[in-house]
Amino acid sequence: MFSELKPLPTDPILGLMAAYKQDTNPNKIDLGVGVYKDEQGNTPVLRAVKKAEAFRLENETTKSYIGLAGNLDFCQKMETLLLGEHSTLLANRVRTAQAPGGTGALRVAAEFIKRCNTDATVWVTTPTWANHISLFEAAGLTVKEYPYYDYENKGLLFDEMIDTLKQVPKGDVVLLHACCHNPSGMDLNEEQWKIVAELAKEVGFTPLIDIAYQGFGASLDEDAKGLRLLADAVDELIICSSCSKNFGLYRERIGACSIIAKDSANADISNSVLLSVVRSIYSMPPAHGADIVNTILGSTELTQEWHDELDEMRNRINGLRTLIKDSLAAQGVAQDFSFIDKQNGMFSFLGINKEQIERLQKEYAIYIVGSSRVNVAGVSQANIEYFSKAVAEVLK
Ligand code: PMP
Repeated sequence: MFSELKPLPTDPILGLMAAYKQDTNPNKIDLGVGVYKDEQGNTPVLRAVKKAEAFRLENETTKSYIGLAGNLDFCQKMETLLLGEHSTLLANRVRTAQAPGGTGALRVAAEFIKRCNTDATVWVTTPTWANHISLFEAAGLTVKEYPYYDYENKGLLFDEMIDTLKQVPKGDVVLLHACCHNPSGMDLNEEQWKIVAELAKEVGFTPLIDIAYQGFGASLDEDAKGLRLLADAVDELIICSSCSKNFGLYRERIGACSIIAKDSANADISNSVLLSVVRSIYSMPPAHGADIVNTILGSTELTQEWHDELDEMRNRINGLRTLIKDSLAAQGVAQDFSFIDKQNGMFSFLGINKEQIERLQKEYAIYIVGSSRVNVAGVSQANIEYFSKAVAEVLK
């Protein structure tokens, strides 16, 4: 049976990671992989996480299963983090299942959507995080795209997006990135979120919010503004959240899938379906990451420490955005890179071509994925001059 298999190409980002690792150039820069890096190029364990882990090691009393929905305290705290402590939805209309990372949450959501409507199409932004498409197709759903990023003007194709969303059939799902759009860094503003919320009610599609970078854009609350606006406006909503970036828990695989239903009774029914989906994929989620997040959010002191560390990460990213823009201008680059300073989160498209990307890799050991998406956090005070000189050179 296996001999019938044809080899599949490796994921371009994983290929890039491997090539970077082998490169012996001491000036090499990795702008490909999507993890936060500090000034030294490391992705350290957060201090608040270390303390919560020490507490867990001391106080854990069993390794027995934690149940289909995972750690219920964690689920409740995630609902509050996402919807805000004053949300009236918390009392009766939201149900959450802990999931193995944001990816696990999306996979659960995909199967849940399939159970709701076998013929549903999931509409995603052009472009989107590549795995979105594979995840929904793996559940047998059709995936279609709606216009989003304006490559030419480095902004949003908002009118075109709305024109397409107006045509979405009732019963379909529209995936929206809550903040820090991956790969473009372009987010909707509050006015635009309101228009999308009105449209969702009018057209009857179900929004699915992917929130993988809460706290990396402006603040925890600000980054959830669009999500909260939609949650208050519509009867039904799906939220897939991830603690990989904002808690730095990448490899612990911790996230959540939350369903907001029209009333408490329907929320219970939806929850029973959600849990049956979980049962048939991985039965029960792992415990470690949820315990860490629950311990941090359950302690005023650790929450403060986490907020401080999150502020540190966000301020570094935003500072680097300004630095990249200024440094490229200082090298006399003719193109306008001011858009980098206006976008959010770790990613932006540099907007350079394939040949220039190849030259950056071959001649300067600067690793960027083929779409020209860069992870801003891969730059540092130490390498910014080398980076901008190299970009200036390949743009000549
Ligand atoms: N959604 C988006 C938009 C992402 O960029 C990512 C991670 N790159 C995820 C979801 C999933 O994150 P994870 O599974 O690592 O929690």
